[in-house]
Order: sequence, then C-alpha cells, then structure tokens
Amino acid sequence: MKAALYTKFQGPITIETVTDPKPVTGGVVLKVGATGLCRSDWHGWVGHDIDIELPHVPGHELAGTIVELGAGMNKFKIGDRVTVPFVSGCGSCEQCNSGNQQVCDHQFQPGFTHWGSFAEYVGIHYAGTNLVHLPDEISFETAASLGCRFITSFRAVAHQAKTTGGNWVAVHGCGGVGLSAIMIAEALGAQVIAIDIDDSKLAFSKTIGAHYTVNGAKENVIDAVREISKGGVHVSVDALGSKTTCFNSIANLRKRGKHIQVGLMAGNDYLPEIPMHLVVANELEVMGSHGMQAHAYPEMMEMIKSGKLQPEKLIGELIPLEEAANLLPKMNEFQGVGVKVINRF
Ligand SMILES: [Zn+2]
Ligand SMILES: [Zn+2]
Repeated sequence: MKAALYTKFQGPITIETVTDPKPVTGGVVLKVGATGLCRSDWHGWVGHDIDIELPHVPGHELAGTIVELGAGMNKFKIGDRVTVPFVSGCGSCEQCNSGNQQVCDHQFQPGFTHWGSFAEYVGIHYAGTNLVHLPDEISFETAASLGCRFITSFRAVAHQAKTTGGNWVAVHGCGGVGLSAIMIAEALGAQVIAIDIDDSKLAFSKTIGAHYTVNGAKENVIDAVREISKGGVHVSVDALGSKTTCFNSIANLRKRGKHIQVGLMAGNDYLPEIPMHLVVANELEVMGSHGMQAHAYPEMMEMIKSGKLQPEKLIGELIPLEEAANLLPKMNEFQGVGVKVINRF
C-alpha cells in the first residue's frame, strides 16, 4: 500500500510503498476514507511522543471501510463504514471495565503506538471495543474531522464540565480544539466567550457559536471575562495549552466553576502555575479531557445528524496524501483557521 512515512524524527516524510497491514486477533483492517492532519502528528514527528517507534506512519483522525476482519471479530462486518477514537481502549483493564476507555492502561493509538492512517489501509486493534458505526448521513471527511479535537472537546464540555443551558463558558484559544469547544458549548445552550490573540480567529469563532470575544493581546483576559459574565464563568476550557491560558482559564471561573484542560502542555509550558488559592477558596474543579470513549459517540452523532453540531464547518481544506506529507513538518508555522483533511491517497 501507499503510505506517508518517516524514518527519523524531524527527518523527511516520503510517500512509500509498504506491506499492507494484516488484522490482529480482535482487530480489523480499514481502507482509509479520510484522515485529519493534526498538530499531534507534528509533535510525534518532532519526537515528543515516547510511544513512536521508527519507521513510522502518522495519522490518528480517521474514518474508513472495513476490508478485513481478524479472528474473533464478529461485532462488525466487511463493508461497514466506521470511525475510531484516537485513544482506543483494550477493553479489559480496570479503566475500560469502568467505561473509561479514554484513559485505558493499555491504549492502542493509531499514528502513535502503531502505524496510523496516512496510508491506504490501517490496522485497528481491539476493534470490538472501539469502532463506531458511521451513520450514512455523515461523510468520511466529517467523521475524520471529529478527530482528536472535536471528540476531546465534546467530552470536555458535555461530559466533564456537564455544561447546560444558561451556563457561561469561556474557551481559551481558537484553534481546532477551541472552535470545536465553542460550537459544542453553544449547541448545549451556553453563553460562550471566545478568547484568542488573533482577531481573524475571533471573528470566525462568532460564525460558529461564540457570543462574545476577548482579544488577549489587547485586554486583560481575566477582567474582561469576569465583566462579560458578571462574576466569572461556570465552565472554562484551556484549548491551547500554555502557562498563560491555563492560568487565565482557572482564574476567570466563578465560584464552584470547572476548568477543563484540553490543550496539551509541552516544552516550556510543561509545568504551569496554578492559582491554587482560588481553587480552594472558590471550590473550583480542575479536570482534564483525553479523547472520548466509543460508547459515548452516539449522543454526539445524533447532534451532528440533527444539525445541532456542524463539525464540517471546521474543515478548511481537503488535500491529497502527498500534500499532507509536505505540510506536516510545517504545522508549527501555520495556524490558519480550519482543519485539513486528507481524502485522496
Ligand atoms: Zn483498557
Ligand atoms: Zn489529532
């Protein structure tokens, strides 16, 4: 099969012909229909992810059609259209048994622990626990765009924060994660404040659900959010992952508010300062969100089918595999609005 591959961290990514994957016991092989290009792939290519063994095929935001079944796989059949969470659970550890496959002790992560979907075919392990049927109304491209960003934001806003109508929600950072969180919070009936330092991203955020915007380069974010929400927000999401956005996201909460960390903390931002005095005095909750379990997808799929959520609005461009191989090493240089999805292999 054709695959985008690198043989050393920060080295060239080339299109190669490699051996087709074979299904493992309990697994399947998918013909990839579409796969998203994500900054997490860039982190992997740089060498930030200890799970990656070289040579490596990236790609973790995928949807496709089952073309081969491994031994023991009877829950799905050849020809099924499916997607899969980027953190897939083993189905048998303590976390999986409690329904929390997103923090499984033995995670299968296509594009990290194993070869991913920047290829014509991808092997998926623990398929019975993790595959999600795609409704006919949802295209491969839309399903791929749910990727890691949209599902992690869905879990953050809907399940971890339990956002409900009338809540004030602040979203720090209007990249793919942040825009997803804004759309989801608005769909759940919240009043949404978008924060970024880029006016064009803030303008776009208003077209997909933000009610108010704050430019952090021009205003004091904590004061501005507190003023707009008359005392602080019920829910705040750090969708970027920096010391500043993490601090602001906790400090702009109202009493008993919930901070959800979605943006990954890496490099110099690895150990952020936390205003712990506010956490204690105001009984704040500080939580993370790390993907979403396959069994939690149907609620989100229904919202997409009914048009309450329109993740396709966050797709910026459909590109061929060759272009993804060229763009991936530059992902730290461009921060344009919209997710790039590969749908030609
Ligand atoms: Zn597990
Ligand atoms: Zn991703």
